[in-house]
Amino acid sequence: NDRAETLEFQAEARQLLQLMVHSIYSNKDVFLRELISNASDALDKLRLAALRDKDLTADTDDLHVTIEVDRDARTLTVRDNGIGMTRDEVVSVIGTIAKSGTAELLRQLREAKDAGASQELIGQFGVGFYAAFMVADRVELTTRRAGESGGTHWASSGEGTYTIAALDEAPQGTAVTLHLKPADTEDNLHDYTAEWTIREIVKRYSDFIAHPIRMTVERSAADDAEATTETVTLNSMKALWARPRGEVEPAEYHEFYKHVGRDWADPLETIHMRGEGTFEYEALLFIPSHAPLDLFSPQGRRGVQLYVKRVFIMDDCDALMPNYLRFVKGVVDAHDLSLNISREILQQDRQIRAVRRRLVKKVLATVKDLKTGQPERYRTFWTEFGAAVKEGLLEDTDNRDVLLEILSVASTHDPAELTDLAGYVGRMKDGQTDIYYATGEHRATIENSPHLEAFRAKGYEVLLLTDPVDEVWVEQVGSYDGRTLRSIAKGEVDLDTEQERAEAEAERERQRGEYADLLTWMGGVLADSVREVRLSSRLTTSPACVVGDAHDLTPTLEKMYRAMGQ
Ligand code: ADP
Ligand code: MG
Repeated sequence: NDRAETLEFQAEARQLLQLMVHSIYSNKDVFLRELISNASDALDKLRLAALRDKDLTADTDDLHVTIEVDRDARTLTVRDNGIGMTRDEVVSVIGTIAKSGTAELLRQLREAKDAGASQELIGQFGVGFYAAFMVADRVELTTRRAGESGGTHWASSGEGTYTIAALDEAPQGTAVTLHLKPADTEDNLHDYTAEWTIREIVKRYSDFIAHPIRMTVERSAADDAEATTETVTLNSMKALWARPRGEVEPAEYHEFYKHVGRDWADPLETIHMRGEGTFEYEALLFIPSHAPLDLFSPQGRRGVQLYVKRVFIMDDCDALMPNYLRFVKGVVDAHDLSLNISREILQQDRQIRAVRRRLVKKVLATVKDLKTGQPERYRTFWTEFGAAVKEGLLEDTDNRDVLLEILSVASTHDPAELTDLAGYVGRMKDGQTDIYYATGEHRATIENSPHLEAFRAKGYEVLLLTDPVDEVWVEQVGSYDGRTLRSIAKGEVDLDTEQERAEAEAERERQRGEYADLLTWMGGVLADSVREVRLSSRLTTSPACVVGDAHDLTPTLEKMYRAMGQ
């Protein structure tokens, strides 16, 4: 084709492809799940586009996926009659990886010690379309965007470049053809041209896909007669969220999660619920077992998918999940919404807000149950998502109490285990009225801080807070269970009982007299740097320390604001 052009993959895409070509991922069957998942997304998008735009010239009567095999040529094709892609879309979504966190993933992969660690990282990232290169040494893609007349042909062997060419004609949708690597070699255990293998894989990974996945198979006749062919549907197509909870197998939930969550690992928790009454909906939500690499990046995917009566409406529906629970994945199918609803209207909708309130309560209750019933799983949850959940203490005052219950933080009580606030209060010493905390970048720096000495001497436990958001929530929340949250680095720390205080005051009075000249002299010398030099009761072994006023910013916050240019 003289209109073919050869282009280079973007650097990050090239690196990721290399990993796929020299496949480090052992479960190669998932390539088919990824291609079917994309095909299904494309069918959903076309159905929605046609609903919204009556003038779109596209056939939506029989949206489906077909799998075609050619045993002699050793090719496998996954075809859909969905939305398709323009040439520019092919270049931008197949030739580059826009997914935030890619650079971070590649950095971690370079540092990964062994194949197992790399595999785990790839599994967490999920490589989507590129998974095709685990089993194919050449991949071709033909596509036509709904509403356009011409199509695009794309081909690559995954080694750094691809060709792209315009086609005068192409069927509606997208066909991806894999030229399979030789069968039965060590890294290609399954024969992906065998009917049985394909049936198995589709059943296992894609049964719930809402569109038919068809394949034409041969039926050998009993008595040497001519073999006939028959087209069969491989999946049951049942919308998982619409089925009664008790009838769905955990494995089915897990595979569905991998589709909606674009994850390769099983979820940590599954939440399946139904809302009845004036506003009916079904929700199938998942808490992942690991944080995405872009959890703290503004470009990260967030929120759940919205469906209206089985019709896909939008990804990343932020009206259904608050920002601090952005890692929760899944589907909400609302029955009484317009198919044309926009993001802006959703944000205002009273019913949607009520649904969101219920979903949030349910997610938090699930975490709380994990904490009491399954401490191991809770620990995984908190390690992965704790820093995001703490943002809820600022965003979501309605649920502050339960958020404070599910919170865990490091503390001087135990060098290895986190504690919750209730645990801290339970261990408070007689006469101790406040909850003490220290903030800093690392646990070790805080522990070596001279501020801690007086507390250590007294046997008082101190919470050690190291996430940037910690500084903010402790300020805003202010107290727990009637006890003030008090920074050990601010203002006067008074750890003594009344009698000790009287004695100490007398002693300090005496010392102030004794050291008056020294303090005046030091105050003069340091006048540019400090407001005041005073005797301290908080040190036991260090000679001096710098403290902030009770209303000053803490050092970490000061740094944060300075970094933000304020
Ligand atoms: P993801 O599905 O997570 O977005 P993929 O790597 O699987 O990532 O796919 C990348 C993009 O390529 C998709 O978001 C979509 O825009 C496009 N794409 C892939 N397959 C198809 C298809 N069959 N039809 C239309 N677009 C597709
Ligand atoms: Mg995909």
